[in-house]
Amino acid sequence: MRFSLKLNLEDSATVSINSQVLERKARGEQILNLSAGEPVLPPHPAIVEGATVAMAAGKTGYPPSGGIVDLRRAAAEWINRSYDTQYSYTNTLVTPGGKFGIFAACHALLDPGDEVVIVAPYWVSYPSIVKIFGGVPVIVNTDASNQWRPSADAISAALTERTKIIILNSGSNPTGAVYTRSFLESVLRVAQKRGITVISDEVYSGLTYEGEFSSCGTFPEYKDSLIVINSCSKNFGMTGWRVGFVYAEESVIKILTKLQSQSTSGASIVSQYAALGALQHVDEVNAYVRGEMQKRRDLFVKGLQELLPNAAITAPRAGLYMFLPVSVFGSDLSSEEFCSRLLTETRIASVPGIAFGTEGYVRFSFGEREGELFAALEQLAKFPRK
Ligand code: PLP
Repeated sequence: MRFSLKLNLEDSATVSINSQVLERKARGEQILNLSAGEPVLPPHPAIVEGATVAMAAGKTGYPPSGGIVDLRRAAAEWINRSYDTQYSYTNTLVTPGGKFGIFAACHALLDPGDEVVIVAPYWVSYPSIVKIFGGVPVIVNTDASNQWRPSADAISAALTERTKIIILNSGSNPTGAVYTRSFLESVLRVAQKRGITVISDEVYSGLTYEGEFSSCGTFPEYKDSLIVINSCSKNFGMTGWRVGFVYAEESVIKILTKLQSQSTSGASIVSQYAALGALQHVDEVNAYVRGEMQKRRDLFVKGLQELLPNAAITAPRAGLYMFLPVSVFGSDLSSEEFCSRLLTETRIASVPGIAFGTEGYVRFSFGEREGELFAALEQLAKFPRK
C-alpha cells in the first residue's frame, strides 16, 4: 500500500508511552505510571447520572453532528460565566475531545506549506497535527527563567507571509505556564492585523491553582481571528468519555460541523449526556477535580523539594505536570535515555522532554493516586544520582 506523502505521521509520544505502560501492567508488571496526562479519580456522580439516565431513557441514537443543543448551550454558559466571554450555542461545537477540535481546526485552515507558530515546550500533538495537513511548525522556544512564557515580541518575530495559525496553550502542558491577559491581547492584536488565526488551547483552564486564568475569548474585538478549544477531559476528570468544545464564530463552527459530519459524526451521545451532567453541577465537579489535583501537586512538590533541596523546585501554577531538568537528578543523559533508565531502575514511567521539543527535561504527571505518588517519591529517593 502506498500512503499519501502528506501523511507525515508520528505516534503521540505520551499516548504511546501510556499504552505501553498499560500493556505491561496488564501482564502483571508493577509500574508507577506518571506518564499519562489524566486526573486519576472516580467520575463525579453527576457524570455517571447524566450518562445512565440518558441510556435508560433510550437516548442512544446518532447525535446531531455539532452536538446536542442542550450541551452546546451549557458549554457556552459555562465558558461565559467562568471567563467573561460572550459565546452562544451557535458559537459552540461539541467534539470527541479537545484533540479532535484542534485537528479539525488545522484541517479546515491549513494548506501545504502554511506555517504554524508553536511555543515550546509544546503539547506533543501540535507539530504532528500540523504536519499531517502539510503545514510547517515554526517553534518559539521559552525557558524556565521567564516561567516558560514567551514574549509577544518573540511571537511577532516568528511570523512570516506564510503564517496561518498561532497556537497558544495557557495552562501549558507540560510546563504549567499561565499567560497574562496583556500577553494574550498583544498576540491577538498582531494576529488580527495580519490575518492569522489564533487557536487557543485552554483545556487546563479549570485546573489553575494560583492566580487567574484568562481566556482569549474575553476579547470580543478579536473574535474573528480566534478559535478556542476546551474540554471535559482534565477540567471534569472525563478523559475517557471523549468530549471537547470548540468556540468560534458561527461561520467557523459551520465548517467544522461539516468536517465532523463527514468524519467522526460527533462525540458519543452517551458521553455528551455525561458531559451535560457535569456542566449542570459544574462548580462542584470542577472543584472536586481541582481540589484533588492541587492536593496531589502539593504533596508531589513537597516530596521532590525534600528529596532535591538544592534544585529550587517550584509548584506549577496550572495543569497536571512537573517539568524538571534531568540534571536535578545528577544526570547528563539525553531525556529519552534518562526516562528509559528511570523505568528500568525505578519502575516509574515518565515522558522525555524531547517529546515536547525541549531536550534535557523530564515530565512527571501528578494526576495519579496519592499512593502511586508516594511510591514514586520513595523510588526516586533510592535512585542513584549519576
Ligand atoms: N491540549 C492539551 C494541551 C492536552 O494536554 C491535551 C491532552 O493531553 C489535549 C489538548 C487533548 O485533550 P482531550 O482530547 O482529551 O480533550
